[in-house]
Amino acid sequence: MFPEILIIVILFGILIFLIISTLKNKHTVEDSLLEGFSFDDDDDIGEDTHPCPLCEKALRKGERVHSVIYNRGEDRLMNIYGCPWCYSDHPAGCREPLRDRRCPSCKVLFKEGNFAIARVFERPGRKMHVHVLGCPVCRHKD
Ligand SMILES: [Zn+2]
Ligand SMILES: [Zn+2]
Repeated sequence: MFPEILIIVILFGILIFLIISTLKNKHTVEDSLLEGFSFDDDDDIGEDTHPCPLCEKALRKGERVHSVIYNRGEDRLMNIYGCPWCYSDHPAGCREPLRDRRCPSCKVLFKEGNFAIARVFERPGRKMHVHVLGCPVCRHKD
């Protein structure tokens, strides 16, 4: 009697674990709206505002840069699309007039659908750190 119950409990535990890990994965693969990630020159923790990397608009709390994080091999990368002030397809809606989006690295003007690419560093106990690599045009130059 006892071993059967134990097996059922273990199977149930595994099932719960699988459900939770699936949900977690889904969360990271889907669009992640990040509030309070830090860029290279701005490593302040607990800062309420941070500028949009593409249009340099100082964002208030709740105004978030739309970005998508994904893994490519060993790298954890992020596509940065812009904030509500510069990205017309922002999930939170966009503001008028829309500001120009420029590559943080080469300053080229982004057309619709363009985005900046950044490398993401996750440090235990600290805010996620984002290092902007550039846009698809400039990131492989130098
Ligand atoms: Zn912006
Ligand atoms: Zn660029």
